[in-house]
Amino acid sequence: MPPDTLPLLDLIEECRNAIGGNVDLLCALDREIGDGDHGTNMQRGMQALVQNQHELAAMPTWQAIEEIGMILVSSIGGAAGPLYGTLMIELGRGMKDGGGGQTFRQSYAHAVDAVGRRGRACVGDKTLLDVLAPVRDDLQRDPGLPAIAASAREAAEKTRDLLARRGRASWLGDRSIGHVDPGAQSCALLVEAICICLERGNHDDR
Ligand code: ADP
Ligand code: MG
Repeated sequence: MPPDTLPLLDLIEECRNAIGGNVDLLCALDREIGDGDHGTNMQRGMQALVQNQHELAAMPTWQAIEEIGMILVSSIGGAAGPLYGTLMIELGRGMKDGGGGQTFRQSYAHAVDAVGRRGRACVGDKTLLDVLAPVRDDLQRDPGLPAIAASAREAAEKTRDLLARRGRASWLGDRSIGHVDPGAQSCALLVEAICICLERGNHDDR
């Protein structure tokens, strides 16, 4: 996936629709083990990206990704805003020319580590990290975009059996078991939306 040719406007639209069509689901998941606002938080984030999409599309890819992170921090809010923000800010900075010339894969892996540090969370703590990390591992093997989307969906579903150790859900202790983590679910929806959009672009190019 050459970073300089990302179809940014299409990606933003696809992500906005993926979250917009699942606001109620994400809020319902968050009502089970949190405070019920994750869907509306994420929707605010996607709307802010749409509002800024033309400025973003005019930027070099790395800078647009970093700026998306800044926008997400201030628009999503809650616990998820700084975490999604950290992911995109670190991803953009890693991809910056002269910033070590890291590949997308390497930059993404560093960004996932940064999310873990920001939230003091590990894989298995029942957070969005439980989707971000399997996607990082998939990217190393490069199984293709549809497979990455499927594995993100499965990873979100697997958070159902986990005990929450970070965020509001951790306050519930054992009662957090048996519910999908809302952040993991939003993350899987976004990964799927991005994979669908990029896969469509691959076919159009042929
Ligand atoms: P809030 O909990 O402030 O209401 P949201 O509902 O928007 O924020 O987001 C909740 C999601 O954020 C959780 O489902 C989880 O995936 C993620 N999350 C919360 N705390 C952490 C943390 N310390 N590290 C990683 N992810 C976290
Ligand atoms: Mg919440």
